[in-house]
Amino acid sequence: MSAPLYEGKSKQVFAGDEPGTYLIHFKDDATAGNGEKHALLDNKGVLNAAISNLIYDYLAKNGVPTHLIKVINETDVLVKAAKILPLEVIIRNVAAGSFSKKYGVPEGNELKSRVVEFSLKDDGLGDPMLSPSHILALGLATEEEIFDVTVQALKVDELLIALFDKAGIRLIDFKLEFGKTDDGKIILCDEISPDSCRLWDAGTNEKMDKDRFRRDLGNVMDYYAEVLDRLKKVL
Ligand code: UDP
Repeated sequence: MSAPLYEGKSKQVFAGDEPGTYLIHFKDDATAGNGEKHALLDNKGVLNAAISNLIYDYLAKNGVPTHLIKVINETDVLVKAAKILPLEVIIRNVAAGSFSKKYGVPEGNELKSRVVEFSLKDDGLGDPMLSPSHILALGLATEEEIFDVTVQALKVDELLIALFDKAGIRLIDFKLEFGKTDDGKIILCDEISPDSCRLWDAGTNEKMDKDRFRRDLGNVMDYYAEVLDRLKKVL
């Protein structure tokens, strides 16, 4: 295969066979702490691709425009080419992670309303948080694009809460990325998987996501496989 157009921490992006497409390969690499911690987790690429593909299919059926065109094999998907907005869009339903640390709210505390948070996709700068006025001032997106992304992200949240609830999983928080196609449409890109979401078992509050890797809780892939199994049963 030719050299990737782009190589990220957990994915490679190649030119697709057809114009206006990319081929994305899900890798087994896991990183945390801005790349300070790294490991190869056997089968992670396969599990994340399977989980993300099921979710993107479900979202598309429910009216969310996504980049996914078709699944090529266990680790590779063909997607619409889009220029990724340099923003991480984080939705929080329950306090956890950096939110808990920053605002002194214990993990697991319910929030009075959902939080939509933006940060700059820039590892070198440590992904600093952005307000909408920062985004406008830095020319990262237009007002209309910020609105569009926010509406889509909240819709994704509602759909995912309902889906995971059926699977006996609480959706604590997650990160989305959006891209702009040549015709100016904003679509959901990247992936949605236990790497990018906090997922807790509804009965026990056990973590079923990348925090198992970040916090050395063990059996990371067993939990990812369990997430996939449960989603398959309800989709
Ligand atoms: N997240 C992500 N990529 C990032 C940062 C965060 O996928 O670069 C996800 C993370 O898995 C969690 C949510 O976004 O589901 C909120 O993460 P948080 O800001 O709490 O960061 P962390 O605690 O991971 O530093």
